[in-house]
Amino acid sequence: MTSYDHLISRLEATAATDGPALIVDIEEPFACTLAIIEAWFGADDERQQLRMVVGDQVGVLTRDAAGALSAAEDVDMADPVFGGSQRSLVPGDPQYAWRRFRCPQPGCSAGDLYAILGTRAHLLRCPAHPSVTLVPA
Ligand SMILES: [Zn+2]
Repeated sequence: MTSYDHLISRLEATAATDGPALIVDIEEPFACTLAIIEAWFGADDERQQLRMVVGDQVGVLTRDAAGALSAAEDVDMADPVFGGSQRSLVPGDPQYAWRRFRCPQPGCSAGDLYAILGTRAHLLRCPAHPSVTLVPA
């Protein structure tokens, strides 16, 4: 099971489309994605969940689940094969800056969508309108 499989397994199903969502590119190092998630929750104690789009999986990652994910990942990172060097990536690294996108469809319910800079273009699709390419907000 990869780290991304772990992430997907922790997503809770949701019908809610309010609140921001993070589009994840599983080609990115998982440590980077995790750093972004940690930064998201770390920036505001009031944040209790983050919608995520991982491939064709859409779900909510709760603060508790994110914490458990971080804890589990720390164990993996202790593995010398995995290496701890990726861990040194900081959320503020410009290579991994967030960028905000929106769906160009009028009245789209997908809400605010974010992706890490460099996310592959074909992933920048509206979760509510899979044929629609997102545009920078
Ligand atoms: Zn849309």
